[in-house]
Amino acid sequence: MTEKITLLIVDDDQETRELIKRSLSDGHYAFIEAENGSAAIRLLNESQPDLIILDVLMSGIDGFEICRQIRKMDAGKHTPLIMMTSLDDTNSIEQAYEAGASNFITKPFNPTLLNYEIKFLLKTKQTSDKLRDTQRRLETAQRIAKLGHWEWTFNDNKVIWSEEICHIMGFPGSKTSAISHQLVTRIHPEDLIRVKTIIKNAIREKSAYSVEHRMVLPDGSTHNVIQEAEVFVDDNGNPVKMVGTLQDITSRKKTEDKIKTLAYYNKVTGLPNRTLLKRLLNKYLSKNNSKQPISVLTITLDRFKLITDSYGHAFGENLIRKVAIRLIRSLKESSYFSQKNNESIFQKREFDKPLTISHCDRDEFVVILPEISEVDDAALIARNITRALAEPYQISDQEIRVTASIGISVYPVDGRDTDTLLKNSATALYHAKRQGGDGYKFYTAKMNARAFERLTLETSLRKAIDEKQFILYYQPKMMLSTDQLIGMEALLRWNHPELGLIAPGEFINILEKTGLIVPLGEKIIESVCLQIKEWIKQQYKTIPVAINLSPVQLRQKDFHLRLSRILKQNNIKPDMIELEITESTLMNNMDKSITMLKKLRLLGTPISLDDFGTGYSSLTYLKHFPVNSLKIDRSFIQNVTVDPDDAAIVKGVIALAHNMKLKVVAEGIEEPAQLSFLKETNCDFGQGYHYSKPVDVKTFTKLFMQKDHQPPLLVRNDNTGYKK
Ligand code: C2E
Ligand code: MG
Ligand code: MG
Repeated sequence: MTEKITLLIVDDDQETRELIKRSLSDGHYAFIEAENGSAAIRLLNESQPDLIILDVLMSGIDGFEICRQIRKMDAGKHTPLIMMTSLDDTNSIEQAYEAGASNFITKPFNPTLLNYEIKFLLKTKQTSDKLRDTQRRLETAQRIAKLGHWEWTFNDNKVIWSEEICHIMGFPGSKTSAISHQLVTRIHPEDLIRVKTIIKNAIREKSAYSVEHRMVLPDGSTHNVIQEAEVFVDDNGNPVKMVGTLQDITSRKKTEDKIKTLAYYNKVTGLPNRTLLKRLLNKYLSKNNSKQPISVLTITLDRFKLITDSYGHAFGENLIRKVAIRLIRSLKESSYFSQKNNESIFQKREFDKPLTISHCDRDEFVVILPEISEVDDAALIARNITRALAEPYQISDQEIRVTASIGISVYPVDGRDTDTLLKNSATALYHAKRQGGDGYKFYTAKMNARAFERLTLETSLRKAIDEKQFILYYQPKMMLSTDQLIGMEALLRWNHPELGLIAPGEFINILEKTGLIVPLGEKIIESVCLQIKEWIKQQYKTIPVAINLSPVQLRQKDFHLRLSRILKQNNIKPDMIELEITESTLMNNMDKSITMLKKLRLLGTPISLDDFGTGYSSLTYLKHFPVNSLKIDRSFIQNVTVDPDDAAIVKGVIALAHNMKLKVVAEGIEEPAQLSFLKETNCDFGQGYHYSKPVDVKTFTKLFMQKDHQPPLLVRNDNTGYKK
């Protein structure tokens, strides 16, 4: 038997109620009756009828008011309600609908029509119940999935969205519409241009898109979302709206990251593991179009097993963590990294971790050195690593010393693919260990020989510093209009016990790569200060001395402080020295260099841009460099009298520099004709063999510092000091 339909009849007239009951006496209905509003509301709550028939005109509260109250109740919100009125006027009908009635009938009513009306309303209710149910289920599902949907109409630029979007985007309350740009404000600034471009393209191409991006909520938290949308067009094919979804995938992302960490990183040090290392090496190899050498360094500790056997596993892990930190620091400090100043390899990140150092297993680390300019650099870095790792470690009150061995393979000579390079690096490591550890070995014998040569030179340079084999030569700087001495440049010479004087071009490079230029550079400044003091003491006129500065020195954050300390200690005024910095140094690392130059300028030390014209700087950059003078490179001066291009360049540079209130020094003046040209073009100062080659301090003092040398002698000595 099918269940009966319960009808609530609300009418203060019993006869009408009976009439309705009789009209609907086909056995499908059960009736409950109320003769006023309050009874109706009570019965509604108790019996939950399927349909209500309500009379409009009743004593007490009228039917319209009862209808309004019913619609406010949970039990009556969606119940079909027919209003019954004897008044057949449109006003009552309108009022009935406004109060929330589903439909109305007029008295006297037609029983057949009433029957159909009831059936129709019940059917409609069934459909709308189903719809509401589906909607509710959808909302619940969307809430669980943190998924919201939105619709953006282009003509009014309005967006409406589901409640879940409010939660995802952190909009207060449950506001469900806004103008489109309010939504854009939540997109992470770094993702904004990308997302906007994708949306614009989708509208232009009338296509769908899917984009993952980050959002910043008002509480400052960052969330990951995925946005998918489709563009809809009108009959003419013009885009009219976009409908899309937005899903918060923050927790999924976190899980993915966790999985990635487990799969790609070593759990003791957090460094990339062998899997990630191989991927990265593959990437470097495939991207290496210029076929630059890439070195692979495999590093293990010597006798690590003995340490874990003696001190235990936890102690061993502790040590490995410290080794990793030292390794990273040593690589960062290697001038190789700082030389690649624009893009240190530590900035090449994937998954937010430095990738060039990987921790493969127990005490095994692998370092990739991509884009190294010389294979020798790999040897130098290996040496720095072994030195750094050999320093004592302090682990739980225990001082411990370990050494490391390194095997090096180099692309392309030792292999062109990841596996071969790793295998050959491991073989080289085996040889390094066999030689007693605490050292490195290349896979190829020839490279070992070259590294040895270089090591010998490095060792001699260290010894040369200790044994004070470096000396300074001085070259005068003249005022061209008067041929008067106005300054000098200190130039470094290595006075080798067997080889005699060696020019800086042969060793500066290695001093820089080993970092030895830093202590030596300070010694040079000190020695210039002492010389100035000596000249002052002997009552010679005080003439400023220019000192050449290496880019490695300039990169020291506290260089200005170190310089200032040396000057103060020697009681030398800052403008008694001048710093020469090559143009290419500035161009390589402009922002940092400019910051340091400004600090130096504040000290009061003039700065000169050396070798100007070779660093490819656009002249417009000049105004950003806080320098006092330019030294036009010798290569331009050499040909000023024969090459019209060089003559034009030199003229142009002088005019421009003067315009910017900079003084100009011409380097390498050798011929009187060159000097005449420079005088004509109003070049301020000059240096070169025409006046004098660089000479030792004794000669310089004799030739240029004598009080009665006005104007000084023109010295045409051939004594460079270098052995022929
Ligand atoms: P620079 O600073 O441009 O120095 C000028 C170079 O040109 C010097 O070479 C000088 O001897 C040479 N020279 C000067 N006049 C003439 C000339 O008329 N004809 C020719 N052919 N050459 C001339 P030097 O002394 O061999 O120095 C070479 C470079 O080494 C210097 O170029 C400078 O960049 C660097 N250097 C020299 N001393 C130091 C130093 O103490 N520290 C640093 N970091 N670098 C230095
Ligand atoms: Mg110079
Ligand atoms: Mg120069």
